[in-house]
Amino acid sequence: MSDIYDVIIVGLGPAGSTLGRLLNDKLSVLALDKKSVSGGFKKPCGGLLAPDAQKSLARFGLTLPKSVLVDPQIFSVETIDLQSSLKREYSRSYVNMDRHAFDLWLMSLLPPNVTVITDAVFTGLMKTDDGFSVAYKKNGAAFEARAKYVVGADGAASVVAKSAGIAVKARRYAAIQRWFRGEDITPRYICAFDSSLTDCYMWGLTKDEYFILGGAFSPNMCRARFETFKEKTELKLGEEVKSEACAVLRPNGVTDCRCGKDGVFLAGEAAGFISPSSLEGISWAFDSASALANALNSAFERKTADPLSQYSTSAMKLRVKLFSKHMKQPFIYYPPLRRFVMKIGAGTL
Ligand SMILES: Cc1cc2nc3c(=O)[nH]c(=O)nc-3n(C[C@H](O)[C@H](O)[C@H](O)COP(=O)(O)OP(=O)(O)OC[C@H]3O[C@@H](n4cnc5c(N)ncnc54)[C@H](O)[C@@H]3O)c2cc1C
Repeated sequence: MSDIYDVIIVGLGPAGSTLGRLLNDKLSVLALDKKSVSGGFKKPCGGLLAPDAQKSLARFGLTLPKSVLVDPQIFSVETIDLQSSLKREYSRSYVNMDRHAFDLWLMSLLPPNVTVITDAVFTGLMKTDDGFSVAYKKNGAAFEARAKYVVGADGAASVVAKSAGIAVKARRYAAIQRWFRGEDITPRYICAFDSSLTDCYMWGLTKDEYFILGGAFSPNMCRARFETFKEKTELKLGEEVKSEACAVLRPNGVTDCRCGKDGVFLAGEAAGFISPSSLEGISWAFDSASALANALNSAFERKTADPLSQYSTSAMKLRVKLFSKHMKQPFIYYPPLRRFVMKIGAGTL
């Protein structure tokens, strides 16, 4: 016997929790996530809420509780070109958060029609006559649930996308973050570039009593490259208390993102929605989930027979945004142009 739902959401990051919150409250929804409320898996993230994500929260009518904030709030980013030793300060208005607390807060907003199962690992799906059968594991035991639609909001390494045969073509980087404690580092947010280590970027950030050093690297030799980055920063980092790594996507172009296929939908980074210039993904998760919620609500209210096409059309806005981020990239990632911009001091504090 298996439970039957209208929608099964796999993944309760910003995309999955937003979708669950915005779906019509008459729908029965099952939401699965491998993380647990009391510890275990925590999504590696810088935990910076960018202005676009702040705008999405404002559109949702949500305000951020103080419990998700960390010390300090930083209003500038120190940009460093490690190969030329150029440094510049740019103004930024991010909110510095505890990413895990943020995810738990978003989950706490889910309405009663959403059944939440944490510590549950999605393992696969099968097409049935009236929808899908979804398999997951919890505490070593195997379970099955059924639904008309399945949504993969399970991030960069989406198992839902793989199970449904949906190929998201975005480039895949290994994101490494290490947490340090103890040394006296002036509170700061740094953003570093070095084309000998990565064609993406590296960062450092104060979070309460910790300093997080991170970077997105090509998976080959990523740990050695991280070590070289660490040495090149010349920061006195103190004791390493945590090391984390995961995949992060970087779409090459607007066709790299995928909204879904045959009743399986993707939202957030699982769909490839993330900024290729800054790797900011929370606003993209919010906005894609909101577009998908509208499409699925319309389908259940019989206002559309094809929710995928409605979702894909609404997601055009995200594709246009992706295109504009692409146009910015040479000024950030092409070393001669970046150095020129840094040297003339355009936009610096
Ligand atoms: C190191 C790093 C730093 C980043 N820093 C920032 C930042 O500062 N600001 C920003 O805006 N973006 C940042 N990003 C990008 C951002 O974290 C993501 O784009 C964003 O979290 C995507 O949200 P999502 O809901 O689509 O997926 P995710 O946040 O990845 O959530 C996916 C959820 O699915 C669950 N899940 C995964 N697989 C399974 C499974 N098989 N079964 C059950 N559950 C599963 C996970 O537990 C998770 O809760 C960063 C990314 C990385 C890797």
